[in-house]
Amino acid sequence: MKSSYLPIIGIEVHVELRTKSKMFCSCHNRHFGQKPNTNVCPVCLGLPGALPVPNIKAIEETIIIALTLNCKINSVFWFDRKNYFYPDLPKGYQISQHFAPIGINGFLPVFGEGKSGKIGISDVHLEEDTGKSLHTEETTLLDYNRSGVPLVEIVSKPEIHSSSEAKEYLKRVQQTIRWLGFSDCDMEKGSMRLEANISVAETNQAGNYQLPEYRVEIKNLNSFRFVEKAIDYEISRQIKILESGLLPKQETRGFNSQKGVTYPQRGKEVAKDYRYFPEPDIPPFKFSSKQISKFGENISEMPWQAEDNLMKLGVKGQWVKIIARRKETVRLFLESQRLSSNKISSQELAGWMVNKKTKQDTKPKDLVEEILTEKNKFSLSEDRIAIFAEQAISENPKAVADYRQGKTQVVGFLIGQVQRKSQGKADPNIVTKILLRKLKQNK
Ligand SMILES: [Zn+2]
Repeated sequence: MKSSYLPIIGIEVHVELRTKSKMFCSCHNRHFGQKPNTNVCPVCLGLPGALPVPNIKAIEETIIIALTLNCKINSVFWFDRKNYFYPDLPKGYQISQHFAPIGINGFLPVFGEGKSGKIGISDVHLEEDTGKSLHTEETTLLDYNRSGVPLVEIVSKPEIHSSSEAKEYLKRVQQTIRWLGFSDCDMEKGSMRLEANISVAETNQAGNYQLPEYRVEIKNLNSFRFVEKAIDYEISRQIKILESGLLPKQETRGFNSQKGVTYPQRGKEVAKDYRYFPEPDIPPFKFSSKQISKFGENISEMPWQAEDNLMKLGVKGQWVKIIARRKETVRLFLESQRLSSNKISSQELAGWMVNKKTKQDTKPKDLVEEILTEKNKFSLSEDRIAIFAEQAISENPKAVADYRQGKTQVVGFLIGQVQRKSQGKADPNIVTKILLRKLKQNK
C-alpha cells in the first residue's frame, strides 16, 4: 500500500527588540547603517573579565510577547551559555536560554475566516545577537555593533504542514510583535530573521504519522516569499529521496534565491553539541504570579480580536486582513466610523481605505471629510442621470448623428452636457455608462 506524505514544518523566528540599550551592557541598541565597530564596549566585545548586566526592559517585553502568544511563564527562569566558536561571537559562547526559557507551551491564532486554527509555540526565549561577518574575496570583516542586541526567539511546534501555512503563520507573528510595538520586524534590515525546520512524514491510511527521524534546517531566509519557495523546494527534494527508499540527511542548508534551490551547508547541530550550562554571571529571575498577571493587564486587543471585531462591524473578505495589518489602521477605521455617525457604511469606509491606500497617520476627521465630500460630489441618483442623459441626446441631434457615423469622440461633448445639467453632481463613470447605453438603444 502506497503511503502518502505530510510535510512537518517548525519555524524559528528571531526578532530584535528596540530597547534603548543592548541586552547586557549600556551601549546604544542601534546598529543598522552605523559605522562599523563604533557602538561597542568590553561587554559586547566579549573582553575577558567584563560582566553582563541584564536589561530588565528586554526581559519584561519578552514576558509580554510570551503572554500574548498564550505561553506559560516559567516562575523561575535564567540564562544559559550556548557554546560554539564563531568569529562574530568573540566570547566563544552566546548568552541564551535553554533549560528554563521565559515562556513555554503557547499558541498563536493564525487562520481566520472559516479556516479556524492555531499554531503551537514550544517556547519564547531571550538571547543576545551576534556581530556581523562581511565576507570579501580576500578576507572576512567583522562588525560588532550588533553584538549584544536583545533578540527574542519564537519557536513554533512542528505543526505547520505547507509553505502557505508557514507564510500565514509568519505574517501573524510579524503583525503581533508590531502591534505590541517592541520591534519593527523589518526583514530587509534584519530585525526579523527566519529559519525553517523541515521534514516529511509518511502517513498511514487513517492519516496518522510519526515524527521523522531527521530534520533539515534552512537558514537565513530573508523574505516571506523565499520561505515559501525554500519550503516547497525542500519538500519535493525530500519526497524524492524518501521515494527512492532512503532517508534525507540531517543537515543545515542554505537557500539560493536566484536559483530557487537549497544547498547543503553543514551537519545539523543538536543540543548536546552546544554544551549548554547555566550562565554563572547572571542569577536566576523569579516573578510571582501576581507580577506576571500584571504584565498581562498591559496587553490590549490583539490582531485576531480586531479582525473579529471588524467582521462584526460588517467589513468583508480581504479588507478585514488589510485593515487589521496595523493597529494604527484599525484605530483610524474605528475612530472614522464613529465620527461619520452612520453617514458612511463600514464597507464603504473599508473599501475607501484599502483602495485609496489611506496612510495610517491620516486624521480620522480628514478621512471622513474626504469621503463625504466625494460622496456628496456625486450625489445624483442613476435615475436622475438617466433623465439628463435623455435630454442631452434629444437636444443635440447633430452630435448623436455624428456619433452614429463613427465619431465616437462626441461622447465627451454629451458627457459635458449631462454634467452641466447635473451641476457636477453626477459620477462621470455612471454618466458615460448610461450615455453609451442610450446611444446604442436609440439606434
Ligand atoms: Zn556594549
